[in-house]
Amino acid sequence: MLKTVFPTIDRESSALGFGCMRLPTLENGAINEELAISMIRKGIDRGVRYIDTAYPYHGGESERVVGKALQDGYREKVILATKLPCWQVKTHEDMMRILDEQLEKLQTDHVDFYLLHALGKDRYHQMKELGYQEFFDQALREGKIRYPSFSFHDDYPAFDEILHDYDWKMCQVQMNILDDENQACVKGIQEAGRLGIGVVIMEPLRGGLLAQPPADVREKYAAYPEKRTPVEWAFRYLYTMPEVITILSGMSDMAQVEDNLAIFDKASRDAVSDEEKQLYKDIKQTYLSRMKTKCTGCAYCQPCPKGITIPDIFRGYDQSLLREGGSFKAGYAKIVEKQADASRCIACRKCERACPQHLPIVTYLQEIRAACEA
Ligand code: SF4
Ligand code: SF4
Repeated sequence: MLKTVFPTIDRESSALGFGCMRLPTLENGAINEELAISMIRKGIDRGVRYIDTAYPYHGGESERVVGKALQDGYREKVILATKLPCWQVKTHEDMMRILDEQLEKLQTDHVDFYLLHALGKDRYHQMKELGYQEFFDQALREGKIRYPSFSFHDDYPAFDEILHDYDWKMCQVQMNILDDENQACVKGIQEAGRLGIGVVIMEPLRGGLLAQPPADVREKYAAYPEKRTPVEWAFRYLYTMPEVITILSGMSDMAQVEDNLAIFDKASRDAVSDEEKQLYKDIKQTYLSRMKTKCTGCAYCQPCPKGITIPDIFRGYDQSLLREGGSFKAGYAKIVEKQADASRCIACRKCERACPQHLPIVTYLQEIRAACEA
């Protein structure tokens, strides 16, 4: 396992982090606890040193299962990260009440990285008004958290403002081959590194898009002298960035755990060559040339007042465009069944005002609806 170290706080980590947002489930939707616990422990036994969860994952059950997995001496071996659901914080007192609830579920007296979850410009200002800094001071004093941190979904100016406004120890951002100029951007990651703030990566495979590339992308990878799987290429893009300390992978079965461990066992921080940089550029262009919405899946447009699941619709449609002869009709029909489809849109444009990518969401929704209902 490729070992890494968080700057400033000098905590050893692993380049692969275990994300606990997509744990294996049973037919009834509940977490398959036995399998989830054995997967997490297998990861730790093989060198994973970073476990990531959050209050809302699996309807609140992820933290409880992680707490069980970290019994029997496993807690002491890892950096544990969880997140404050900022959207549920209405008063200053809510913050400590939620943290105490999380500590109980996690069966621990402290979390290492405690993140303000999914910050953007507006949410950050709300949390500031509610006194998040005083809350962190108190939680640090009482030993309930070690390192104040945040996760982020907005644009670069918002990231830059938040990054410079507090003594953060870590930031968690979305980055992958397609997103170097989206959200925090590569330049945001470099700025965090310059400030000595460790960077943790989420969505390294862009919701699975990079794991199952279309035929023309597969051909480009196959033509390159060095042979790697698409997943390995996607991880390599990230673990060779010096500012990136840990890359989260939301593993859902034991095969994924094994595959990821194999990749990170042979990973090294050696620099990416100019030829590889060119390959990554080609891969990105090939993807983007075939995708319509280019939605990053940040969910900042949610919730829609009419319940439209915009990121699901955009992701499903873009994925269908990447498959040979792909169609989103069946996927869209399921969204219609859930009453979360584009026909409900009242064009209030709340979503468009919130979208960091400034996407013409209403237009795209209607175009996708027309294509899927034709
Ligand atoms: S414009 Fe349509 S999709 Fe966007 S928030 Fe309003 S109702 Fe929802
Ligand atoms: S439509 Fe915009 S805000 Fe919504 S998920 Fe996509 S990029 Fe994010």
